[in-house]
Amino acid sequence: MSTASNDLRLANTMKALVKAHARTGLWMQNEPIPEIGVDDVLIKINKTGICGTDVHIWNWDEWAANTVPVPLITGHEFAGVIVDMGSHVEGLTIGQRVSGEGHLVGKESRQSRAGKFHLDPETRGIGVNEHGAFAQYLKLNAFNVIQLPDEISDDIGAILDPLGNAVHTALSFDLLSEDVLVTGAGPIGIMAAAVARHAGARNVVITDVNDDRLTLASQVADVVPVNVARQDLKDVSVKMGLKQGFDIGLEMSGNQAALDQMVESLVMGGRIAMLGIPPGKSPVDWSRIVFKAITIKGVYGREIFETWYKMITMLQNGLDVSGVITHRFPVQDFEEGFRQMIGGSSGKVVLDWTGV
Ligand code: NAD
Ligand code: ZN
Repeated sequence: MSTASNDLRLANTMKALVKAHARTGLWMQNEPIPEIGVDDVLIKINKTGICGTDVHIWNWDEWAANTVPVPLITGHEFAGVIVDMGSHVEGLTIGQRVSGEGHLVGKESRQSRAGKFHLDPETRGIGVNEHGAFAQYLKLNAFNVIQLPDEISDDIGAILDPLGNAVHTALSFDLLSEDVLVTGAGPIGIMAAAVARHAGARNVVITDVNDDRLTLASQVADVVPVNVARQDLKDVSVKMGLKQGFDIGLEMSGNQAALDQMVESLVMGGRIAMLGIPPGKSPVDWSRIVFKAITIKGVYGREIFETWYKMITMLQNGLDVSGVITHRFPVQDFEEGFRQMIGGSSGKVVLDWTGV
């Protein structure tokens, strides 16, 4: 810890990236270090990932303006070290490297009581509804903490949240020996394609309209990239020897045309796991879906905590998504980090808090 940050901790303040005003941008300012309750830990943040959600909050679009209270410490993708904990916390130790689930769930709903915490309707998100991780210190309920094994770096720890989205989506259906179509080569689509390969898919095709992202996809995973703005997906699948089409679709773009193309490209009885969030209401050709007997599963967040278990064990057993991190900045350069994200061609952007 630098002398400057020691001084801040003595003064009970920390640096944080705050949505301080209801307009475009985030502001680095001094905030009180959170006070922890008996069931909480205090995490000193080392690295954070910038998410598409953070870009919405930065841009202050309609969703953000309707959802995010001002002022709020933003951010939900993080890795750090436990520096303090409440008296009821068991099984964790000070000095332990951790990440954590950013969805804070209740314990009362039918879903939670059934152990399906990811389906709790009362879920609140850090960095969206509650103070988040873009700060030197984060307060988190011990229940949400994920211990990081030595072989998982802080950089990867800081992107486990979106990797979890990818894993949750990709493992929605059995992929062994299947032909898989991923629409959208954003960071999550690329990671989902890598997971599909790891999970034993026969062929993985990933589509986008952005060549930078498709190039990145083929660097990170053994996939066939297709730019649907100028390549015919049907041609590609025929050349690959697919007789009817793809067995499984992972929709990772939120784009209407991509979903249409996916429905078109799937086999009879194909299955779609849909993570991408279409803007507003969008028209869907339901009769096509019915006549092809397609199953569609909406995917939200990560399974708490099965997805975390699976992704950590996959990372320990050969899954490598490190190439999806294309930019690293000291947090002082957060504006450049957001510029890269807003540019739409980056992979994950990781901010380093250790030099604050
Ligand atoms: P992203 O915006 O970085 O990537 C989406 C990609 O889709 C872009 O590269 C874009 O060029 C591409 N695209 C646009 N039109 C296309 C088309 N016609 N065909 C194929 N690709 C096309 O997004 P991300 O951060 O990787 O996240 C993926 C999606 O998942 C987003 O829609 C995001 O909002 C959503 N998301 C959902 C959850 C959830 O819990 N359901 C969580 C996180 C993210
Ligand atoms: Zn995220």
